[in-house]
Amino acid sequence: MQDIIENIVSTVGASQQRGQVADYIPQLGRVDINHFAISVATCDGQLFSGGDAQTPFSIQSISKVFTLTQALGKLGDGLWRHVGREPSGDPFNSIVQLEHEQGKPRNPFINAGAIAVADALLSGCQPKEMLAELLRFVRNLANDDSVFIDEAVAKSELATGDRNASLAHFMAGFRHLRHPVDSVLGAYFHQCAIAMTTQQLAQAGLFLAGDGLNPITQSRVVPSRRARRINSLMMMCGHYDGSGEFAYRVGLPGKSGVGGGILAIAPGKASIAVWSPGLDPIGNSKLGTEALEALMQRTGWSVFV
Ligand code: GLN
Repeated sequence: MQDIIENIVSTVGASQQRGQVADYIPQLGRVDINHFAISVATCDGQLFSGGDAQTPFSIQSISKVFTLTQALGKLGDGLWRHVGREPSGDPFNSIVQLEHEQGKPRNPFINAGAIAVADALLSGCQPKEMLAELLRFVRNLANDDSVFIDEAVAKSELATGDRNASLAHFMAGFRHLRHPVDSVLGAYFHQCAIAMTTQQLAQAGLFLAGDGLNPITQSRVVPSRRARRINSLMMMCGHYDGSGEFAYRVGLPGKSGVGGGILAIAPGKASIAVWSPGLDPIGNSKLGTEALEALMQRTGWSVFV
């Protein structure tokens, strides 16, 4: 495995066509496009890494996997009153379908859906408590207390968050949010600003490769049925209107973020995190996707085998 990773770093990682960093969040626009990292945490307890695997980056929408997991723990199937579970076929920050669905977002991974999930998580607690609980959960999964929320990224997103504010107000207009828009957005921007390395992220995703059980610590994070459902949502919706393309090319459940990270799950085999800040036109990591495609060609880990 280590030789496959070294090979991917020196070929895919060195590509000149790196896409574009997301500059609509100014703080992300400052990240060096030349970063490249890949980590593979296997279900038998090994961790392989290459490139900048120790450099923390903004996980952005990958955080939606963790908030979805927490919200399903808190509300069970009641969560589906807040958000649907169908692919949207529209960009991550699109508003159009909300009007047809009375303010109920199509799935938990588009921005509107993640804002609705954050609203659900705020029931019975303050935003600070919700974020502390989220951070504790992610640190625990990564088995690393150094995971942190990057305040500069959260502030930068708040300052330029008109699109997300529109989504939240539009949902509130349908009485689809239970908490004040400002608190929900504050919680959402902070969850997106969680910073992790690919090593931490690959470890944090292991419970989804282990059918709900962390294969290293043998501790159960979620029931197996829930892990399978989260994986199915990642497969169908994790890359927005690029989800079909990702399934076609990589063949694994995956979740991307505009920081250039992707978490991909090979059930029963491994949890994989990649990072390359340059995005394709849809907003998914360009070289990250290519790296996963190359890894799949070498390992044959597609769920469609
Ligand atoms: N924080 C980003 C936003 O709301 C998340 C988007 C993403 O990673 N696709 O725009």
